[in-house]
Amino acid sequence: MTAAGYSKPNYAIIGAGIGGLALAGLLSRTGAKVRVYEQAAEFQRIGAGIQMGPNAVRVLRALGLEPMLRRLAFYPPSWANRAWDTGEYLFELPYGEDAEARYGAPYLLMHRGDLHAALASAVPPDAIAYGKKLIDLQTTGPDVRLRFADGTSAQADAVIGADGVHSRVREILLGPERPRFTGFVAHRTVFPTALIKGVTVDTCTKWWGPDRHIVIYPVNPARTETYFVTSVPDPDWDVESWSAKGEMAEVFAALAGFHADVQRVIEACPQVHKWALFERDPLPRWSDGPVVLLGDACHPMTPYMAQGAACALEDTAVLARCIAAADGGDLAEGFRRYEATRRDRAARIQLGSRQNEWGKERMDPGWVYGYDAWTAPIAEARATAAE
Ligand SMILES: Cc1cc2nc3c(=O)[nH]c(=O)nc-3n(C[C@H](O)[C@H](O)[C@H](O)COP(=O)(O)OP(=O)(O)OC[C@H]3O[C@@H](n4cnc5c(N)ncnc54)[C@H](O)[C@@H]3O)c2cc1C
Repeated sequence: MTAAGYSKPNYAIIGAGIGGLALAGLLSRTGAKVRVYEQAAEFQRIGAGIQMGPNAVRVLRALGLEPMLRRLAFYPPSWANRAWDTGEYLFELPYGEDAEARYGAPYLLMHRGDLHAALASAVPPDAIAYGKKLIDLQTTGPDVRLRFADGTSAQADAVIGADGVHSRVREILLGPERPRFTGFVAHRTVFPTALIKGVTVDTCTKWWGPDRHIVIYPVNPARTETYFVTSVPDPDWDVESWSAKGEMAEVFAALAGFHADVQRVIEACPQVHKWALFERDPLPRWSDGPVVLLGDACHPMTPYMAQGAACALEDTAVLARCIAAADGGDLAEGFRRYEATRRDRAARIQLGSRQNEWGKERMDPGWVYGYDAWTAPIAEARATAAE
């Protein structure tokens, strides 16, 4: 991986999720040789919404996706925080034109499937290999060998583990350790707004209960689809699945006593998915030689600041910059500089999200939304705890 005998490295990205696709898009725009290996047999449109803060949109902008996403997404005037029972407004975070003027990029609410499809459109189609579940990788001299569950193998000069909260690449780097189940589950769904009677869903609202909450928002400009996501204690349900079905009866029971507007929304909803919420403490290291992690693989967090995917996108921009800076030089050093640049910020957001206080009281979100991954200073590589 040094300048001697230099030929352009080829990159294997494990995982075609939000981070993996974004990085593949950014690297392929520079002419790099990239291949994405995804365990799923095909892309699935899961019924979920996603919030993209201005810090995330800055990265999507570099992929040329902003105009498309503005057409597909809802542009909320605010994030309203309300008391679960009385409906009292606790704090309203201004979004819309206010946030856009302040941060130079919009806050957008969209269908997760729309975001995923947009990211996939930024990657050459033949660069994504589906049905490739990574089971092992070995660094052998100058390159890395990848082995997949279907019995095939591949070679790469560098590997980026963008394989999510249960990352196999993280496990290979740092040893087996299950992410921590928080004891909370999220019920989530997207359904036709026309089914909701007697209440208008026209912004993003978080209804704060004593130990549980629900967030409700539209996911397209015409507001024809509405999303909600709960966080509810359920200490015995640590199932790892994107597609597990939940029971509506469970949602009604969990949110009994919530404000009438919330009841109208959940009563209208035909079905939900149920998702156990996992997280980790900040990791001691994110890279080892030609292998590096990004996104949930290295900083899985609770969704309470709506920043997990945004952090993954920030990672991709900084990693792409560090790879470009190392061009023809020491890529492993570039990976360590990426890690040094990103670790403290990701840890701050990870630990902040764990508190579940974002927006409950008057606060200034500038340190999160104002971050620009394209101009943030790149740090020098530093020794990690494992060195
Ligand atoms: C309820 C909920 C709501 C959320 N809301 C928001 C929000 O509003 N805004 C926000 O920014 N974030 C949000 N998040 C967080 C966000 O979903 C994650 O942080 C984000 O998806 C992380 O992206 P990623 O690319 O790291 O991982 P993922 O998007 O999880 O992608 C990982 C990919 O790797 C693949 N994979 C896994 N293992 C292997 C393997 N061994 N071999 C090959 N492929 C593999 C997976 O199939 C998957 O496609 C939310 C999370 C939850 C749970």
